[in-house]
Amino acid sequence: MNIKKIMVIGAGQMGAGIAQVCAVSGYDVILHDTNAEALDHGFKGIEKRLARDVVKGKLSEDDKHASILRIKKTDAIDEAANCDLVIEAVVENMDVKTKIFSQLDQIAPAHAILATNTSSLPITEIAAATKRPDKVIGMHFMNPVPVMKLVEVIRGLATSDKVFETIKQTAESLNKTAVEVNDFPGFVSNRVLMPMINEAIYTVYEGVAEPEAVDEVMKLGMNHPMGPLTLADFIGLDTCLYIMETLHEGFGDDKYRPCPLLRKYVKAGWLGKKSGRGFYSYSK
Ligand code: NAD
Repeated sequence: MNIKKIMVIGAGQMGAGIAQVCAVSGYDVILHDTNAEALDHGFKGIEKRLARDVVKGKLSEDDKHASILRIKKTDAIDEAANCDLVIEAVVENMDVKTKIFSQLDQIAPAHAILATNTSSLPITEIAAATKRPDKVIGMHFMNPVPVMKLVEVIRGLATSDKVFETIKQTAESLNKTAVEVNDFPGFVSNRVLMPMINEAIYTVYEGVAEPEAVDEVMKLGMNHPMGPLTLADFIGLDTCLYIMETLHEGFGDDKYRPCPLLRKYVKAGWLGKKSGRGFYSYSK
């Protein structure tokens, strides 16, 4: 299938990054968010990152300009009527996602593929909210999208081979490497990563060490480029909590129980870098 126009739903840290790489790769992009401020913030972030790429010599001024012109901002989900592919990147919550997929199913043309950037939620369940489960698929980008090479591609139970191949090729056209994984909670990336982050939070909760010490141990001792608590702040603590809850519920195994300190921070609105406070403070 020939993908020309891509709609990205949600202009947060992931959606804005996805819109950016799609536009730079030559796709027409419609970036949608229900929150006008978030939409504006996401778009400004794209402009800023592309300007930085020009300064670094990674992108020409003309290509920057053309990429920005390829992105149309909208608060109307109805624009999905003109797309070949929709990539959803809103909050990690099944009710919100299924509502959006059911709406998209009504609006998007029959040939359109509906992809989700979910970090952990079952693709099969999201697909069941539509009448086109063969055209629903997981397309899990990593953060920050313009930098990270991986896209985990996850088939739902009914995803067709043709749709899988189209999404694999689309990911490759964005200069990413697609890796196929099966539809289990957290897929591979977050099934392995998130329990480690949760355990790092437990070490702070139980007074084993301060956040700085935990991060230093993992950086210097395990050669991780970034400590797990810095990474958690970067991902968003609300997203980390949603993923742990999905693993806990999905496997019914207490080894995935979210740390109470993670819950407390999220309840306090300490969501990490995006809110200015998480395990560390971030001046705006
Ligand atoms: P975010 O909080 O930065 O952005 C979410 C955006 O969705 C917000 O701008 C919000 O206004 C918008 N939104 C909420 N409800 C909406 C609706 N009904 N319609 C349109 N827009 C709506 O979150 P994020 O970090 O970008 O995460 C988005 C998705 O990507 C989640 O499913 C998350 O699990 C996944 N993901 C996140 C990361 C990460 O590192 N943060 C990595 C991979 C995947």
